[in-house]
Amino acid sequence: MTGSGGLARRAGQLARWAVSDHHTRGRVHPESEHPYRGPFQRDRDRLIHCRAFRRLMHKTQVFVAGEGDHFRTRLTHTMEVAQIARTVAACLDLNEHLTEAICLGHDLGHPPFGHAGQTALNRCMAAHGGFEHNLQALRIVDRLERRYPAFEGLNLCWETREGLLKHCSRREAKALGDLGERFLRRRQPSLEAQLANVADEIAYNHHDLDDGIRSGLLSHDEMIEARLYRDAYERARRRYPGSRRSVLVAEAIRGMIDRVVSDLIETTRAALEAAAPENAGAVRALGRPLVRLSPEMQELHEELARFLSARLYHHPRMKQEFAKAGAVIETLFSFYFNHPGQLPPGHAPKEGGGEQAAARAVADYIAGMTDRFARQRFEEAPA
Ligand code: MG
Repeated sequence: MTGSGGLARRAGQLARWAVSDHHTRGRVHPESEHPYRGPFQRDRDRLIHCRAFRRLMHKTQVFVAGEGDHFRTRLTHTMEVAQIARTVAACLDLNEHLTEAICLGHDLGHPPFGHAGQTALNRCMAAHGGFEHNLQALRIVDRLERRYPAFEGLNLCWETREGLLKHCSRREAKALGDLGERFLRRRQPSLEAQLANVADEIAYNHHDLDDGIRSGLLSHDEMIEARLYRDAYERARRRYPGSRRSVLVAEAIRGMIDRVVSDLIETTRAALEAAAPENAGAVRALGRPLVRLSPEMQELHEELARFLSARLYHHPRMKQEFAKAGAVIETLFSFYFNHPGQLPPGHAPKEGGGEQAAARAVADYIAGMTDRFARQRFEEAPA
């Protein structure tokens, strides 16, 4: 990475627009400070130790978990997001612990089978308030994890929860109180949350390209249609003319990530200096995010996303997987909805909660399943 910030900064010194450990809005259930760890370090640690985090290992990112040993899973995707975001946070003197915590929690709410699972579960829940993985991540950390005798959930800091809530409808925002306010007032989250969001996009665009080639669904010849890839591959080929194609592809993707992330650092640094927000609160009052790519890089990055959407996510073989996954989710949903007594203890709906609560309990149970467990349950469930 180039630039003036990085190595020259004083250790532990945050920019004035970063979220400071000392100014957190705190936790729903007040807790005393830890002698060795700051509040966001504790949030990160709570996320790493929770059950939903371990389940990410067996959940699909794009390619069905278990199909091949080298494809990304939700867990390795999550780690790549955190890696990219922490680099940028360190270069820009943002709160690295908060950034990492948000990244590690950002995909906790995904049901099995990636986007196919999300789409199917949302369809099943259409008459019961819908299903959205983002809100589900919040439900998990606020209520569903049961590890602490003193409270439900993980009792994370407000800023970590703010970062987990990436998007949300007006109706949902109203129900979420001060956490949902920014969606009603069209304001921004912290820089750390903005960064986790962009790092997510950078991570999946690049690793999906890599997995796409590995799977054989994408070929090098079609990939050179995407300019970011073409430029990086040409550079790699000129520099290492004798290298094997597979190594050059890896080198090209590595070069792409470096180029995009470097642009992100430099563009965001300039945007921060120009806007010069007084503090983290002033960042939230702005009309648009400050963590961003330059217009040229944004266009190249979007071109890559469009390429992946057309050639990979809508590939006929992916559509087959999509349909299969949808059938599993729908069968499980109607089975448990019609036989709530089959839900394991601890997953039963609250007494007297009505149909809405019954459906939500089923959605919570299914969303928590790994791909493998969902398939097992599907095979066992009577038709
Ligand atoms: Mg993600």
